[in-house]
Amino acid sequence: MTDAFDLLIEGGTVVDGGGGPGFAAAVGVIGDRLRIISGETAHLRAARRIDATGHVVAPGFIDLHSHGGLMMLAEPRHEPKVRQGVTTEVIGVDGNSYAPFLRQQDLDDFLTLNAGLDGRPDIACDWGSVAGYLERFDRRVAVNVAYFIGNSALRISACGWDEVPADARAMDRQRGLLREGMEEGAFGLSSGLDYPPGAYATTEELGALLAEAAKLGGFYHTHVRYTLGDGFLDPFREAIEIGRQGDGPVHLTHFYHRATYPGPPERMLKLVDDARAEGLDVTFDLYPSEWASTRLLIMLPPWIQAGGVAKTRERLADRAIRARIRDELAARGRSYAGAAPWADLRLGYFARPEHARWEGRTLAEYMVETGLDPTDAICDLLLAEDLRVNQVTPGPHTAGLAPFFRHPVSMIGSDGVLIGAKPAPRTYGSFPRVLGEFVREQRLTSLEEAVRKMTAAPAARLGLADRGLLRDGLKADIVVFDPAAVRDLATYEEPRRFPAGIPHVVVNGTLVVDGGEHTGALPGRALRRSSTA
Ligand SMILES: [Zn+2]
Repeated sequence: MTDAFDLLIEGGTVVDGGGGPGFAAAVGVIGDRLRIISGETAHLRAARRIDATGHVVAPGFIDLHSHGGLMMLAEPRHEPKVRQGVTTEVIGVDGNSYAPFLRQQDLDDFLTLNAGLDGRPDIACDWGSVAGYLERFDRRVAVNVAYFIGNSALRISACGWDEVPADARAMDRQRGLLREGMEEGAFGLSSGLDYPPGAYATTEELGALLAEAAKLGGFYHTHVRYTLGDGFLDPFREAIEIGRQGDGPVHLTHFYHRATYPGPPERMLKLVDDARAEGLDVTFDLYPSEWASTRLLIMLPPWIQAGGVAKTRERLADRAIRARIRDELAARGRSYAGAAPWADLRLGYFARPEHARWEGRTLAEYMVETGLDPTDAICDLLLAEDLRVNQVTPGPHTAGLAPFFRHPVSMIGSDGVLIGAKPAPRTYGSFPRVLGEFVREQRLTSLEEAVRKMTAAPAARLGLADRGLLRDGLKADIVVFDPAAVRDLATYEEPRRFPAGIPHVVVNGTLVVDGGEHTGALPGRALRRSSTA
């Protein structure tokens, strides 16, 4: 062999993503492609050599649930994620995607509506089509993205912002936009059935859209309708029914167990096993963290948002409507296993300087200082911030994480929110927590199996034939970590801490993390469905 390598990673143990035992080999990179070299490497020429003695060399991790669809364009180094070894992320999740939009005003309103979750960076958002949006990522961000089309975007263009059924014409429009977006490179359809206006879609409507996506090789990525029926199994039964009706694959995102649920995690996992036994293609991801995070708007009854952003603002300001909200909040109670009421809701991401001191503090503290009740506190904050408030709340039950993680079709989706001074710890810590705590300390799976769940399994789910494995000729997305030292350092109190033990990350053949530091390189691409580019 006489080829000169651009990069040669020598002396490490290759855990190739396929789930088999790690083996001693070197990993070479030429351009953006890999080569595995067993045996001597001293005679090989290489522009750069990395000594990986004592380290594992694995495919870069794939995050199946990212909120980086806007923030990455503004902060393209994407350090919270790439420092964890993430090289590809799924964006456009929760039904909340930013393309296609036929009318600029609709996109502008949608950006405002979702700013408490995805942020609203100061960038020009004038892409319109899926193709135009995806181009913004190519070689301009640190990691690769795989894009899903959210059903909120489809519904806004086809039905507007109201809670109305999608008639035959609206269904044709939604299907047409979905097909076009997938032809431009999207990987499928997402939903977030707690988030209007996508939440107005019926089971049948989503089944019909999945049927369209499945024809083109796509799948259904769903944040389920958590309030449906028993609020425990019924939301997931609906997702599986959508798969049945659409005759297409279903991926349950952030599938987890709460301490407040009326049954154990095993009953939730049995739904997946039963569906698979029936012949349905059902998989899921989880985030390895006890803290959830989303936009504060989710705390209010969804009818607040009917008709869009301007109507939402009007309702928030209306005293009579606040009285109705007050009654509904009292009747519903909190869905969280909270200690003191609202002391478990931490506020984050304020755009207005006068609110900056509230970042990282709880709604209970805000209520004490302002003398407001929860309804007025939430409505006032949302109005003052033009809806753009984020929250961090208790999420998955610790005891439930292990059975979900060990399940053979589980994968990892960080769901990390990239805004605010104190995001939930999953933003900076998800993948290293799997390697440090789940594998090394708790031995929930072998290291090889954990790596498979974070690499080859999601690559196969996405249909990425050239990523997710370290094999000759595949794309060079690589992470080098120390299996004895890798750990997450992000905590609830100090969530913005980078992990330890991940010295090198390579994206498309280029070092993005080198010696534990970001190189500033931006080799990421928007991957296109069934493309090998
Ligand atoms: Zn979600």
